[in-house]
Amino acid sequence: MKKFSVLIILSLAIITLSSGQKLLTLAERSNYHYSNDYPATLRLCHALDSISTMVHMDIFGKSSAGYDLPFLIVDRDGLTVPQQIKDKGRAIIMIQADIHAGEPEGNDAGFILVRDLITNRRYVQLLDHVSIIFIPVLNADGLSRLSPYNRINQNGPDIMGWRANAMNLNLNRDYLKADAPEIRAWIRLFNQYLPDFFVDCHTTDGADYQYVLTYALPLEFQLTQQQYDWVYTTYLPYVTKKMYGQGIPIFQYISFRRWADPTSGLVLSAFNPMYSTGYVWAQNRPSLLIETHMLKDFRLRLWATYYMLLHTIEAVSSTADKLIKINLQADKEASRLAGKKYTLQYKLTDDTVHVQFLGKQYHIRHSGLTGGNYVVYSDTNQTITMPLWNKYQPDRSITVPEAYIIPVQWTEVIKRLLAHGIKFYTIEDQYTDSVFTYRFSNIKFACYPYEGHQRVQSFTTEKVKTGQTFRPGSIIVPIGQRAAQIIIHLLEPEAPSSLLSWGFFNPIFEQKEYAEIRVMERLGKQMLEQDTLLGHEWTQWKATHPNASQWQQINWLYQHSPCQDPYKDIYPVGMIYSRQKLNDIVKKFCYSSK
Ligand SMILES: [Zn+2]
Repeated sequence: MKKFSVLIILSLAIITLSSGQKLLTLAERSNYHYSNDYPATLRLCHALDSISTMVHMDIFGKSSAGYDLPFLIVDRDGLTVPQQIKDKGRAIIMIQADIHAGEPEGNDAGFILVRDLITNRRYVQLLDHVSIIFIPVLNADGLSRLSPYNRINQNGPDIMGWRANAMNLNLNRDYLKADAPEIRAWIRLFNQYLPDFFVDCHTTDGADYQYVLTYALPLEFQLTQQQYDWVYTTYLPYVTKKMYGQGIPIFQYISFRRWADPTSGLVLSAFNPMYSTGYVWAQNRPSLLIETHMLKDFRLRLWATYYMLLHTIEAVSSTADKLIKINLQADKEASRLAGKKYTLQYKLTDDTVHVQFLGKQYHIRHSGLTGGNYVVYSDTNQTITMPLWNKYQPDRSITVPEAYIIPVQWTEVIKRLLAHGIKFYTIEDQYTDSVFTYRFSNIKFACYPYEGHQRVQSFTTEKVKTGQTFRPGSIIVPIGQRAAQIIIHLLEPEAPSSLLSWGFFNPIFEQKEYAEIRVMERLGKQMLEQDTLLGHEWTQWKATHPNASQWQQINWLYQHSPCQDPYKDIYPVGMIYSRQKLNDIVKKFCYSSK
């Protein structure tokens, strides 16, 4: 059980420090019993800002509970304006910590690294080709909720922050729906600097193994060919060699195929754009997820994170020109997606490779508490040859339209597009047209809320054309822009984290009008007499639904009558596939945008 109270950590934090000590993290000053708390985080930002012209501190937003969100820009010439940094030919690396505030080593490791970059001659030359944006705490609310009882499975520090923000939202599920002020602020910062490489620092749960640190990089289908080649033939071999050279073996971030069953084999994780690193590949940039292991002690985890960050900076610094160039090329490729096939979802194939996995010996124990079994890991190392499922194949694909058109009344959706910095035209004159969209059927909703939303769990889509009127204020979102993948992932319903899947369009699934039994007795009989095909369907439906109530029967007839709502289960977002048509509509109805 943790021995120290919150009071002790707070009293540690207000000790007057000598100037040398000012740059030490709480981890270093407490012999790794503690990580930086929120006041220590702010104090270190100010200290580094005041000690060097190469470091500039700023605030990029506020948390949901109103805490300032600080960040540091580390640039050799003290530049802070994105274009000025880019004009120097420097690649920008964004490093983020404490998105899950109980997984803290990225905070301390990042501060030590910034300190070393500006004070250690061996490192400072790296800043010739690289500038760093360091976000020490994205989840300031979670870091302000310290307790020895958070993350009880984890091996230190003695007190830890909380996973979610003050609204109980997991920020690392919020990157597309952007409900949380922290994420909206982060997106603004990201769009402002458009970093060339992004790192998110975490600590993972789960089975024990010898690796202090596992990592996830975007998969082949999430990058352009040039980016993929850079990540897997330049970046990864370099950092792997360096980490192993320092006695820190690393491995891909994996899970067991069956939960808690080490014999079931390994599965490579893939991240869609609701996660930080998934969002960044959808913004056409490579990203790195660091997951140190919770059972390794805090000191080991912190230094593993430090070296992974340092070697990442080295790898980017030595190839900065190339990385900047291929990222700009990726932006161009994304802006030319209209008319092309785009895969929204991928699924794991049955293909496996066999890998030498540095595991730990374990045995199965019977639980007297629950009657089930559980796995207990020992300290003895063992190398195991294991199958790794690491290949994904396309599952759901679409042909990308030239533009999406969104009626003005869907204000929360339009707000999200604004939050992501998406460019669009605004319709100024009422516009009526027949547009392509989807009709949904077999709709199933989740029983429990997830991240504050009632999600649409599954559905079937059918492409249809419907007449729609778009009132002034409706928007046309052209796909010909660098954030095209973000637009697609927000607006294509079958994308894994689409706004439709989050429930932003749930009212379209509600039936608002109905027929009384006495009305449908007459109308229903007429319909069945006049339409023999409908009569046949009615007989079949009755046979397959023998327990349908009188109300359900009447409503079936209502839904097949001319009185039914033609817009129920119809996606209100339209798709325009012709560039000529897009240009004509913009010219005619969005005149002030020219
Ligand atoms: Zn995490």
